[in-house]
Amino acid sequence: PDQAPGTSTARSEALFQRAQRVIPGGVNSPVRAFKSVGGTPRFIASANGATLTDADGQTYLDYIGSWGPMILGHNHPAVREAIVEAAQSGTSFGAPSEREVLLAELVTRLTGTEKVRFVSSGTEATMSALRLARGFTGHSSPERKYTVKFRGNYHGHADALLVEAGSGLMTNAAALGQAAPSSAGVPPEYAALTLVADYNDPAGLDRLIQERGHEIAAVIFEPVVGNAGVLIPSAEFLAALHRVKAAGALLIADEVMTGFRLSLRGASGLLNLEPDLTCWGKIIGGGLPVGAYGGRAEIMDFVSPIGPVYQAGTLSGNPLAMAAGLATLRELERDPDIYTRLERYTAALGEGLTSLAAEAGLPLTVNQIGSMLTAFFLEGEVHDYGQAARADTAAFGRWFQALLGAGVYWAPSQFESIFVSGAHREVDLDFTLTAAKQAFSAAKER
Ligand code: PMP
Repeated sequence: PDQAPGTSTARSEALFQRAQRVIPGGVNSPVRAFKSVGGTPRFIASANGATLTDADGQTYLDYIGSWGPMILGHNHPAVREAIVEAAQSGTSFGAPSEREVLLAELVTRLTGTEKVRFVSSGTEATMSALRLARGFTGHSSPERKYTVKFRGNYHGHADALLVEAGSGLMTNAAALGQAAPSSAGVPPEYAALTLVADYNDPAGLDRLIQERGHEIAAVIFEPVVGNAGVLIPSAEFLAALHRVKAAGALLIADEVMTGFRLSLRGASGLLNLEPDLTCWGKIIGGGLPVGAYGGRAEIMDFVSPIGPVYQAGTLSGNPLAMAAGLATLRELERDPDIYTRLERYTAALGEGLTSLAAEAGLPLTVNQIGSMLTAFFLEGEVHDYGQAARADTAAFGRWFQALLGAGVYWAPSQFESIFVSGAHREVDLDFTLTAAKQAFSAAKER
């Protein structure tokens, strides 16, 4: 960033005070409130390339990328121009339009799926995919009403998926595959329809499928986890996931975060996955609200109006959102080497952090794949939620604050991935590692 940040947060603080009077917690999505790291959340005034500028005029090197969508960097000219052009022809029709066809053709071609349905968020995508899986499998076997998710995976905030989204309390019931809601307002009766297994535990999944496979409509999973921090699946776990198909359950890859991020074919392309259904969000909308789910025509044709599974949306296929998604995916297809550059930058970032932490005498474990990375403040490998949960969140909080003070905006929680974009440059890497070096010293002081 050209402008060195000072410490002024006066305008952000004033906005935060006003926001808290009229918006719960002052934010429209919880992690933005900086609750786990403390301090004043920065109110962002503008974003460009790899940077964010806050209400006090301070510019930060951004590692959130709006939590994933901004893979091309902020305010990318092709995306901006596509949105402006679309807006000149009206902003919502409530009737089909050409851009929906173009984006559906592009998504199905790039991802090797047959049909896709657009919604307006990742939450809607996973919620709808589960309903479709129940509708499709229930057709032949009405007792298939259960779904399986993995502890610490996040699939949005639909009731049935707000289950064991990361409590450290592993009860006997949970070990048996019974789940407790992880949000107030979710009746235990709903949660009881969601069975929970451990990520990267192929034997546990095999056992669950053996015992209850005939009752299970779908297994939904993050093919690379971003929501417990980054967790990378083992080959054995991926093989066990594919075995659920033999029990008649659908395999649903939640690629909301990984789709078009880990490769043009997402994590499925990188890891050779063959899910029955895939969910997308984030990048597919290029920074506007879009989600999608897709798969074989045989399954997708169960969706209304030609099938019995109902799903609809006033703003689904919105022309501005379709334009942003189209422009973003077209840029990625035009420049597929972007994935090599992202991997190189992010791997170098991970190596730099690992050696700086070692120099500072702080335990740190970096999980990185493509442009996703989490630096866990702990010693030892991290393959599941239980291992991630051992992290020293207080040390992480001190590190985060020191980074922010030096002009680097890291994810404000230990249990999130950061996202590198095509706008991050070599100089940004140097800037980050310089900031990280002094931040590790700050993290050591109690
Ligand atoms: N699935 C995954 C894997 C996600 O990371 C997220 C959001 N971080 C969602 C679903 C929910 O998407 P949205 O916030 O757009 O509803």
